[in-house]
Amino acid sequence: KQNRKAIIAGNWKMNKTATEAKALISELIPAVKDAGCEVVICVPFTDLVTAVEMTKGTNIHVGAENVHFEKSGAFTGEISADMLTDLGVEYVVIGHSERRQYFAETNETVNKRTKAALAGGLKPIICVGESLDQREQGVTEELVRMQVKIALNGVTADELKNVVIAYEPIWAIGTGKTATADQAEEVCAAIRKVVGELYGEDAAKALTVQYGGSMNPKNAEELLSKPDVDGGLIGGASLKADQFAVIVDAAT
Ligand code: PEP
Repeated sequence: KQNRKAIIAGNWKMNKTATEAKALISELIPAVKDAGCEVVICVPFTDLVTAVEMTKGTNIHVGAENVHFEKSGAFTGEISADMLTDLGVEYVVIGHSERRQYFAETNETVNKRTKAALAGGLKPIICVGESLDQREQGVTEELVRMQVKIALNGVTADELKNVVIAYEPIWAIGTGKTATADQAEEVCAAIRKVVGELYGEDAAKALTVQYGGSMNPKNAEELLSKPDVDGGLIGGASLKADQFAVIVDAAT
């Protein structure tokens, strides 16, 4: 994997009040302090201040779970990239399948959010992946290539250095069903290939591509051993400090 950065990121989803976040982060700090990879926790907006304050001086980086694409203005209920960076937030999850499914996120809004995040100094973790139906129809690679291409439309080669792509087959998210290591490798390699076509070989080699979808302490090592799988986006198992720590160790 040459000198690519391995990143294990937790996606807490709509879990943990600020009070509960405090308790979990207190457990996480000692549990991951010797990590050989980059450790990120993506938390609800209401937990961001707590997370940033508590992780100062530690090896844990903080991310949000979404960002709006406009800079500011009359967008009631939305949060801008500047609001996040001002707090000390570094990463942001964009285009998670739950947002695509439940909140009308499209490839176009994913692209707008990605560009806004990068312009505001955030590192986007862009989620792509197929449904079970699409996998069975044999269109996985074609679909993922299109998701990546549209997400990165207008992103400069310099900005790409701050982009992470997460391959998350929808049928594996929160289901306890994991892609096999070979399935994960196949699509992560396809993502690197399309990025290579767009930005060149060197940029593709430097890109961190994560796998996400029921990654857990038992299957992490095998998935992460694959040459094009550079880390993981972890839902359920990121809510338990001991489980998350085992996955972090597997990426070391
Ligand atoms: C996710 O939500 O990004 C995810 C991978 O969830 P889980 O690990 O619970 O499948």
